Amino acid sequence: MSKLNLPNSEAPDVTIREAQSQVHEWITTVGVRYFNELTNLAILTEEVGELARLVARRFGEQSEKPSDAGRDLGDEMADVLWVLMALANQTGVDLTQALADNVAKKTARDQNRHRNNPKLT
Ligand SMILES: [Mg+2]
Repeated sequence: MSKLNLPNSEAPDVTIREAQSQVHEWITTVGVRYFNELTNLAILTEEVGELARLVARRFGEQSEKPSDAGRDLGDEMADVLWVLMALANQTGVDLTQALADNVAKKTARDQNRHRNNPKLT
């Protein structure tokens, strides 16, 4: 359960910055324009809810309904990522920098915290 197991993919590798740019291109061409920030936050919440529903039924203790059977976990995660990137774009957040800063912050703050947590052993 804890290993990183990524299947082979035909999709080209893209950086987070490139993905933000792709989302911007799509929104400003196919999608016409950005929804406003509050709308996108509501959509992000909705998409997280869809992901939570699928995880609860597929990996949690709720039974999976027939209507959930065909839903793709990766597609639901991509929905979340997409809207998060849209929100980052319109608020001027460079997620590449933000993630780097966040990892550094967590590493400094949690250097021993999780190792010393008896609940994790
Ligand atoms: Mg979704």
